[in-house]
Amino acid sequence: MIKQITNLTFFVLLSTAAVAQTTPAPATKGQNPQRRRGQPHPFTLTVNDAAKTKIDTTKLGVAFRAVYPGFANADGYRTKREVTMRIIDTAKDFTLKAVPGEIVANGKWLKKKQNLQNFQQSLQDALQKNWVSVDTIKKDGYSLVFVNLNEKFNPTIQKNLISTYFEVYPKLVGLFNDKATHDVIFVTDTAYKGVAETSGNRILFATKYMDKFPYDVDIVTHEGMHIVQGYGYGSGPVWLTEGIADYIRYKYGVDNVGSKWYLPAFKAKDKGYEQSYRITARFFEWIDQKVKPGMIIQIDKELRNHTYTADTWATLSGKTLDQLWADYSANPDLNLVYSSKSL
Ligand SMILES: [Zn+2]
Repeated sequence: MIKQITNLTFFVLLSTAAVAQTTPAPATKGQNPQRRRGQPHPFTLTVNDAAKTKIDTTKLGVAFRAVYPGFANADGYRTKREVTMRIIDTAKDFTLKAVPGEIVANGKWLKKKQNLQNFQQSLQDALQKNWVSVDTIKKDGYSLVFVNLNEKFNPTIQKNLISTYFEVYPKLVGLFNDKATHDVIFVTDTAYKGVAETSGNRILFATKYMDKFPYDVDIVTHEGMHIVQGYGYGSGPVWLTEGIADYIRYKYGVDNVGSKWYLPAFKAKDKGYEQSYRITARFFEWIDQKVKPGMIIQIDKELRNHTYTADTWATLSGKTLDQLWADYSANPDLNLVYSSKSL
């Protein structure tokens, strides 16, 4: 399953998928402000000592722009965008080293015409060495690039995340947004302290969390729905985006039962629909069952079309959101049917 990609276009594709997702709507909304930031900084390459070593920096720049944005997109949101390149002259065997934010090349090696011409491939290979493994899996018109940054990551969890993606993601795209990308990147990260988060077409998984809760594969369903949502900036509040993602996880998750994930019973102390996530998801299921079937899916559509407003609830149901929540609070009983394991 583990294979090194030597294809020159690999990082270019990673980058293209990211650009397609981020224009004009850069990222999926969520609880993390990172996903709602403004336009990302550009990628820049500063070559030190270029004049001294008489290297053609135009060629270096072209290769950098073809490769590094894709690497950074797949690597993680902390990956540095401003890169410094140092050219050193050494007689040693050293050729090229590239880590996030820094490239070091042997000027003697680089001055050979052949090496400069192949610089894009060399840079891609050097950057890829920062990753423990990269798998590209394709199936029925969908692809998943799995970038693993944690050498201790359990391969069984990886396998289960991949199969969950291919089971649930195409289904969500088909049901809710056939314009959503078919190319998704999974990244596992040891440093990330949360659970998972989505930005553009990349889902970042915290390996600490996954090690502790290996059965929670429907994180893929929740985060995958964020890609499918693709609402863009300024289209509805974050609690709504998160509530819908958990509502979809409730309805389409492959193994909510196995991971002991459930929608908690209504409690009088619940703050309201803005509590987000599972509290909101249960309220949405109540709306679907007791008020108007299909209404939440309609709300999802309007968020994507940017036709959603706070009045949409009243337009669709005859009641404001606050009235709906008051009705729900008064009579929250609900028969919940969870999806079960079908892998
Ligand atoms: Zn979310």
